Amino acid sequence: MSTNNIEKLVRKNISLLVPYQSARSLNKKGNIWLNANEYPESTNIIFSHKNLNRYPYCQPKELIDLYAVYAGVKNNQIIVHRGADEGIELLMKVFCNPIKDKIMFFPPTYGMYKINADILGVKYKALKTKNDWQLDLISISQNIQQVKLVYICNPNNPTGSVIDHKDFHQLMNIVNKKIIVVIDEAYIEFSPKNTLINCLSKYSNLVILRTLSKAFSLAGLRCGFTLANKKIIHLLLKIITPYPLSVPVIEIAKYFLREKNIFLMNKRIKKTIKIKNWFIKSLHQFTCIEKIFSSNTNYILIKFKSAKYIFKQLQKKGIILRDQSYQLGLKNCIRITIGTYKECKKTLCELKKIFI
Ligand SMILES: *Cc1c(COP(=O)(O)O)cnc(C)c1O
Repeated sequence: MSTNNIEKLVRKNISLLVPYQSARSLNKKGNIWLNANEYPESTNIIFSHKNLNRYPYCQPKELIDLYAVYAGVKNNQIIVHRGADEGIELLMKVFCNPIKDKIMFFPPTYGMYKINADILGVKYKALKTKNDWQLDLISISQNIQQVKLVYICNPNNPTGSVIDHKDFHQLMNIVNKKIIVVIDEAYIEFSPKNTLINCLSKYSNLVILRTLSKAFSLAGLRCGFTLANKKIIHLLLKIITPYPLSVPVIEIAKYFLREKNIFLMNKRIKKTIKIKNWFIKSLHQFTCIEKIFSSNTNYILIKFKSAKYIFKQLQKKGIILRDQSYQLGLKNCIRITIGTYKECKKTLCELKKIFI
């Protein structure tokens, strides 16, 4: 049977899409996964579910209340959804008319802003950052026509950099409440002093994205939060699916947001940062490295003399990194997630072997 008609039926922008290369789509044999900024170890928990016959609440109150306390916001300033990724999408659905409106973001950065725009048929303005990864405020002010949403990843994936707070306030002045500014704080727990969450009360057009995937070591759970003015939350609630989280997800998320487990998370962060600092120090011996960018996260961006070669050699040894060479300004750059001490040590060992 001919499939020609399917090609005729599909929306043109969907036809042009290339499927996203996710953490798990690399069909490679690996035993050390340092490519997706996940926590290297899983916390084992056992749950008994007595109410799987019932649909879950869309916005489980206990979960919302726990996150509100954790984040220091009111419980009417939160919506919970399937990972931070769903928050990125919901915002576009609420604020952007396809074909007409634009989002703005600042490469090199997280890929899902552009991908969601492409899927929804929303236009985008990708503005280069300055050489130090900081916002180019002049260029922003010249390009804000038809922009409804600005996405800023802070700390930024994959550079590990953070934006200057003074620039942020200037940006808020430039957009003058006429544009929604979204700060993606997926990695904020690794650099808590850089959060802009305290600015929510000052700016009604500010949105903060959070997730349990990174510092909470729950990438497999798929649970994220959008924090904003209650009017924005109200709009997002109009379009979210009726059951974004399954019953087990809700129970596990609540468990990890207990005071005791937040304490354990902070301990894990300290451990990760300690390993990161040791790893960076040990990397300085390699002449194949041109630059190690400073990192406010659980990964580091490294510029090699030849990224392709390093990536392939380590892949052969089962060590999977994330090549970032395709991104604007990141030629020969690889992002390495901080794994366990053992995994980092093995990575160093294999790097050494390559250069002997
Ligand atoms: C990992 C990541 C996300 C996605 O988080 P999920 O909650 O797993 O969907 C969002 N933004 C950035 C910058 C990320 O690195």
